[in-house]
Amino acid sequence: MKRIAILGSTGSVGRNALRVVDAMPGRFRVVGLAAHSNGGLLSRQVLRYKPAMLSLFETAASEALKSRPYGCRRLGSGVEGLVEMAGHPDVDLVLIGLVGGVGFAPLLAALRAGKTVALASKEPMVMAGAQFMREAKRWGARIIPVDSEPSAIFQCIQGNPATAIRRVLLTASGGAFYRRRGSLDRVRVAEALRHPTWKMGRKITIDSATLMNKGFEAIEIMHLFGLGHEAIEIVIHPQSIVHSAVEFSDGAVLAQMAPPDMRLPIQHALAYPERAAAIVKRLDLAAVGALNFSRPDFRRFPCLALAREAAATGGGMPAVLNAADEVAVDAFTAGRIRFTQLARVVEKVMRAFRGGRGLPSFSEVVEIDQWARRQAQEACTRL
Ligand code: MG
Repeated sequence: MKRIAILGSTGSVGRNALRVVDAMPGRFRVVGLAAHSNGGLLSRQVLRYKPAMLSLFETAASEALKSRPYGCRRLGSGVEGLVEMAGHPDVDLVLIGLVGGVGFAPLLAALRAGKTVALASKEPMVMAGAQFMREAKRWGARIIPVDSEPSAIFQCIQGNPATAIRRVLLTASGGAFYRRRGSLDRVRVAEALRHPTWKMGRKITIDSATLMNKGFEAIEIMHLFGLGHEAIEIVIHPQSIVHSAVEFSDGAVLAQMAPPDMRLPIQHALAYPERAAAIVKRLDLAAVGALNFSRPDFRRFPCLALAREAAATGGGMPAVLNAADEVAVDAFTAGRIRFTQLARVVEKVMRAFRGGRGLPSFSEVVEIDQWARRQAQEACTRL
């Protein structure tokens, strides 16, 4: 049995991962569960899966866990607990489904412990993708993507030499506002949280509405598959059936298709290199009818243009992009800035950044991240 730790077990990816575990009895043993602040759900998960370790990020939220003995080790709170779980010797596979930059240190810990990491959080790879890939190589660790698009690419390239990849066609649903007409200046938070095809957490759903999520994915994919930014083309595909495609040197294009259900890429990452029995609904192409594709509108969705710019600039710029976006998304969901101001906050911080083009070390990335967060907080108050 593969022993797995789930970082972010009460979030959308974590809950789906546990459904995958349930659907494949005898295959996985859940040895660690870590959640952010949902102590009630975490305590129910702990009772059901009986992990050896648990951790709750927010200490203030631990009331629900105090009431009974769980018979498992309680790790520290905050990043410390995540790091200990990610690198623990009793864990074979670490699923990282955390929100935002918080996955940075746990990912590093897992790679340095030589783990197989099923990675759903793209932010750490945006911050320091090249450095993480180098670290994985050094310690014999492996990253298997969980996010549907990188998973699709990972699946398409199996059995093909890396040098034969000419281009990646990265598909995007377009998010909540792609087909909406008129100004996006006064859209409400609740509208931005209504994703047309995927049910996900708040941060990623807002990032999908601005298309920043797709920009992040392009950066993550560059690093995961060793490609230049110019080798990734973003294509709007509202049905979310083609999860991405790869064009090879001979002109052949392979795409991975399935109904939009996160359990499939999660199952693929957990079971890899095996192909397990289907737990998701099968694809009925005739029922889908038509698949549409179009080019993205960079002017209407400036976050996507900023992400592409950060990818081309490299160095510390993607870390700046990531940090500024996280602060801006928080400010938008709290009603402090408008939807169209998200991109302005990110752009302001990017323009203020004076970093070299060289690859920053992990500690330099952390410093850049903190600097960019402060700058973004300030930018939110004076737009
Ligand atoms: Mg995705």
